Amino acid sequence: MLDAVVVGSGPNGLVAAVTLAAAGKKVLVLEAAPTIGGGARTAELTLPGIRHDVCSSVHPLGAGSPAIAAMHLAGVTWAHPEIPMAHPLDDGSAAFLHLDIDATIAHLGPDGRAYRRTFGSVARHWEHSVRFALGPPLAALLHPFAGARFGMLALQPASWLSRRFKTPMGRALLAGLAGHAAVPLTRIGTAGVGLTLGAAGHTVGWPFAIGGSGVIVGALAARLESLGGEIRTRTEVLEWSDIPPTRVVLFDTTPAIAARIAGDRLPAGVARSYRRLRPGPGVFKVDVALSGPIPWANPDVRRAGTVHVGGTYEEIARAEAEVAAGEHPERPFIISSQPVVADPSRAPAGTHILWAYCHVPAGSERDMTDAMFSQFERFAPGFTSLVSAVNRRDTTDLAADNANQTGGDITGGALSLRGLFARPKVFAPYRAAAGIYLCSASTPPGAGVHGMCGHHAATAVLRDLR
Ligand SMILES: Cc1cc2nc3c(=O)[nH]c(=O)nc-3n(C[C@H](O)[C@H](O)[C@H](O)COP(=O)(O)OP(=O)(O)OC[C@H]3O[C@@H](n4cnc5c(N)ncnc54)[C@H](O)[C@@H]3O)c2cc1C
Repeated sequence: MLDAVVVGSGPNGLVAAVTLAAAGKKVLVLEAAPTIGGGARTAELTLPGIRHDVCSSVHPLGAGSPAIAAMHLAGVTWAHPEIPMAHPLDDGSAAFLHLDIDATIAHLGPDGRAYRRTFGSVARHWEHSVRFALGPPLAALLHPFAGARFGMLALQPASWLSRRFKTPMGRALLAGLAGHAAVPLTRIGTAGVGLTLGAAGHTVGWPFAIGGSGVIVGALAARLESLGGEIRTRTEVLEWSDIPPTRVVLFDTTPAIAARIAGDRLPAGVARSYRRLRPGPGVFKVDVALSGPIPWANPDVRRAGTVHVGGTYEEIARAEAEVAAGEHPERPFIISSQPVVADPSRAPAGTHILWAYCHVPAGSERDMTDAMFSQFERFAPGFTSLVSAVNRRDTTDLAADNANQTGGDITGGALSLRGLFARPKVFAPYRAAAGIYLCSASTPPGAGVHGMCGHHAATAVLRDLR
């Protein structure tokens, strides 16, 4: 008899499994794919010897995760680029997120004060901020003063915060950070995404994992096995009878998948709220092998790990609103990274790689390569001539790769007012029914390779098994 079966070996599933095994529980992880890791895998997607991150690439949330830090994972080393993030503009200027907040502020000129007022206290009180950004739900109730400071800013739409910023540089920096939310910048809570990522940049940085994101899940799997846990790949759970006898089951899946498998083992109200969580938009992703570094017009952008490509605040706001309206932006907002600047192990000497995605309507099959490459040419003339090989993936490919990525959604469910308080339900978000739990990014605190959903779910399991 097992103590726990975890369905899915994404970072949350593995963190949950390690937490349970470390508490002496007998744990089995069942993974549908041939390889472990879900949204944190690394593979040769273009040319031999070039290691691309299949999904996640940049790890402000991994480096800031209390659960991952506490595990002291052997072999996981964060590689920090000289500049965490850059955001080029058409006139050759660029905004920069430096590790040093004062350097960021100085470069923003007239918007420096607004930046300090917005990001300063969140970064200065990072150990409190992270409790709300990555902590268990309702953590604000335990720390009302710090919670109120973070919450009042974080719950706003980014469009409200943008009124504090007057220069194209300051406004673009904010739009790029909040654009990670994958919803229009007018949506409540988008400020929180931008604030968390910006403040993380000034505290834990935006590092890569040396060797790629796959190293993180590899280290989690090794820890699990050293604690007596087991992982079976190529083992998709389609129905309840696929799960061996066990005291509890944790689903590192979307709520809809968990509801389908658990069937009438879930109370009707829970099943209803699980089916109600709407997926976010889709993603179109390219991984590119390059014969040299990207020739950014602004030479300092070459030193940045992450580059937000999308121009001004207004352009990014328009692109994200178009996606939400079911349209494909002509000038998409692109989140890209150039890992070789911090981790030369990814590609043979002298060559480089680009990891980049843009948001598209859910289920889109449109090839966005040309629109994305035009954006890169716009800020890095000559980019296209360096391209040696491209791997493209549309929303259909993403969903086929990982059943959690419904319609190409990479966020585990769209950011919404309801979802801020009920992801996927208000009370006990990790507990679905007696012995059945949800531990994926569809629970608080949401998307990202931080493992905190898995950590909180495993904590709930251990409390119940006591
Ligand atoms: C293109 C892309 C870029 C991203 N960029 C970043 C980034 O730079 N930084 C960052 O922090 N985050 C990033 N993310 C988000 C991050 O990868 C996810 O939020 C994170 O992986 C979620 O972890 P999880 O464990 O909840 O689920 P997942 O990682 O999705 O893992 C779920 C696992 O469950 C398996 N599974 C599903 N159903 C079943 C079943 N029925 N039976 C058995 N197995 C099943 C899947 O195959 C998968 O392996 C990105 C994601 C994508 C796709």
